Amino acid sequence: MPQTLFRKVWDRHAVRQLPNGQTQLYIGLHLIHEVTSPQAFDELARRGWSVASPERTFATVDHIVPTLSQVRPFADGMAETMTTALERNCRAHGIPLFDLSSGVQGIVHVIGPELGLTQPAMTICCGDSHTSTHGAFGAIAFGIGTSQVRDVLASQSLAVSPSKVRRIDVTGRLAKGVYAKDVILTIIGRLGVHGGAGYAYEYGGDVLDRMSMDERMTICNMSIEGGARLGYVNPDQTTFDYVQGRRFAPTGDAFDRACQWWRQMASDPGAAYDDRVVIDGATIAPTVTWGINPGQSVAVDGRLPAAREAGSTADEALSFMGFDAGQPIAGVKIDVAFVGSCTNGRLSDLREAARVVRGHRVASHVRALVVPGSQAVRLAAEREGLNEVFAEAGFEWRGAGCSMCLAMNPDRLNGREVCASSSNRNFKGRQGSPTGRTLLMSPAMVAAAAIAGEVVDVRGWEGRS
Ligand code: SF4
Repeated sequence: MPQTLFRKVWDRHAVRQLPNGQTQLYIGLHLIHEVTSPQAFDELARRGWSVASPERTFATVDHIVPTLSQVRPFADGMAETMTTALERNCRAHGIPLFDLSSGVQGIVHVIGPELGLTQPAMTICCGDSHTSTHGAFGAIAFGIGTSQVRDVLASQSLAVSPSKVRRIDVTGRLAKGVYAKDVILTIIGRLGVHGGAGYAYEYGGDVLDRMSMDERMTICNMSIEGGARLGYVNPDQTTFDYVQGRRFAPTGDAFDRACQWWRQMASDPGAAYDDRVVIDGATIAPTVTWGINPGQSVAVDGRLPAAREAGSTADEALSFMGFDAGQPIAGVKIDVAFVGSCTNGRLSDLREAARVVRGHRVASHVRALVVPGSQAVRLAAEREGLNEVFAEAGFEWRGAGCSMCLAMNPDRLNGREVCASSSNRNFKGRQGSPTGRTLLMSPAMVAAAAIAGEVVDVRGWEGRS
């Protein structure tokens, strides 16, 4: 019987069926960070348990680390306490920690792939819902809560229910100025923020086939924003080329054998799906969110919904954002521009943003910052001189971390500020101010908005003086 990758990986990692219908699933890789692990370790200590597989557990600091001065102790007591706890727990249990002095620290979903920890056909967990990012490699990767972090630490397995699989094909070609971020915002916009509930999303089609691993990670990253617990792309030569030579990747003959295995784990032709969706890539435009969830988006040359039924989510969103029904999104003034996060804080994202910014100045009323997803991204960008392009334009160039994606550190909005952001969530208060407003878009669109001081169509950017 032809099978999906999801089914193959699930079955090979199933330890046993539990009486409640769930599966005890073996976890191949557990990534941890400073924010969702302390209570899990405390619970382990209280019960006198040890970590089952420290060699399959890897830690980094990302959520709360400051991106300006990273001198220890941190000025923020909470950041210092959480970081110290992670260091202590990793030492106590023999877990490798990629800290600020490691040279490879960064956002957990950026460094896993960079280090070659993320590999096809694995099961991967982390106490962060954007763990779906790792599905770009053909892994079954999903976020977990703190009590599940405890369970995985203690048993290297988890009680979970299988998902249905929805195949999403993006066909044809994307127009110039349209990016992976626009594709996933369009998918979420069309299927809804709860449309993926109960599903794993399998992404494919010509557009996905041609995408780089960075772009596939952007797509899979936001699966959770569409209600799907996880999303994945079948592994192919693009995947293998990315993995080869990375620090934790198999080498020599072992790598060749691994590739053979990974190929077999891809969904078979003729595999049955619980649902199928086809989207014509040529219909996708640069996309911007206007509301308070990532499904409330519109093409940059479009208008906000005209009707606002009292009490509806659209009504709530328009009121919160202070926008008028039916107004164009282009021309909305911004106060802050943020390029970064595990969605769009990779080198290719910074290159696209720098390409737009080069030779321009950030609008005088805009505060703009670039926060690389990892120390490796930062270093690579500096080697290419991207930091200078950003600095000359008036962007702040920061240390690696989650930063303004969720504003657990000092990088936050003030009051009613409007932020053009390359991150993944535009919930109320997400960027630190309870009344702050987030417009999600691609890094190139953020860069263009920073220069123009308002939302603009990056497709018309070339040759702008
Ligand atoms: S960048 Fe944002 S979404 Fe990604 S891991 Fe950090 S907090 Fe989570």
